[in-house]
Amino acid sequence: MKLRIGHLYPDYLNIYADRGNIAVLSRRAAWRGHDLEVNTLTVGDAVRPGEHDLLYVGGGQDREQALVARDLAAKGDGVHDAVEAGVALLAVCGGYQLLGRSYRDLHGVELPGIGVFPLETVAGQRRMIGDVLLECELEPGVRRTVAGFENHAGRTRLDPGALPLGRVVAGFGNDGESGYEGCRVGRAVGTYLHGPLLPRNPWFADWLLAQAIAHVTGEEPTELPALADDLEADAHAVSARRAETRGGRFS
Ligand code: GLN
Repeated sequence: MKLRIGHLYPDYLNIYADRGNIAVLSRRAAWRGHDLEVNTLTVGDAVRPGEHDLLYVGGGQDREQALVARDLAAKGDGVHDAVEAGVALLAVCGGYQLLGRSYRDLHGVELPGIGVFPLETVAGQRRMIGDVLLECELEPGVRRTVAGFENHAGRTRLDPGALPLGRVVAGFGNDGESGYEGCRVGRAVGTYLHGPLLPRNPWFADWLLAQAIAHVTGEEPTELPALADDLEADAHAVSARRAETRGGRFS
């Protein structure tokens, strides 16, 4: 099966090797016999309906976010329509913030977001930096952990009733106070977790692929055939242990 990924702003939003997430999705799709086609959606490119099964955007500093925010606003309807049509989406950190309603940086400059996620973000003086461990429940009763690394000034506040990606077991999460991290709307997930995220969280990479496959088939998402994820499990364990022993600290 061919799966089509739209990679938003790889030339601007790619801090902490976030593009490594694309490599993981490509390989894990190929190991199941699927072909992942990746195309760039940067400044000036339109997000056209029916052209993608998964959209991806990485993180970046305030400066890079300011360089793309207005262009992303022009893509807003295209991204909204895609998410509403069941396209999967992963947004990391700076990309996550710009998929909320707005991001106000440290100088009080407010960047427009496109409101895919029901949230707003305001930068605070002290950065939230460190390893993070989350407990996620993307399917009722199925609790799994996600481990990663965070480095953000942004404090993200979810609207009442909005779904987080997970509960913070260790680290700061969305704002260092709520006890939650990330946001989920259907098949779209936003998160602060870098690393890159997916190599050390293979179940989550497969969950995203299953959402993208469901968008192609029009059927409900199904579990992908298991892979020998020993190395990935080791990476997860190291990352989880680091979070538990030296989780987030303000700096
Ligand atoms: N510039 C944003 C912040 O500091 C996002 C940072 C990032 O993508 N790591 O909160």
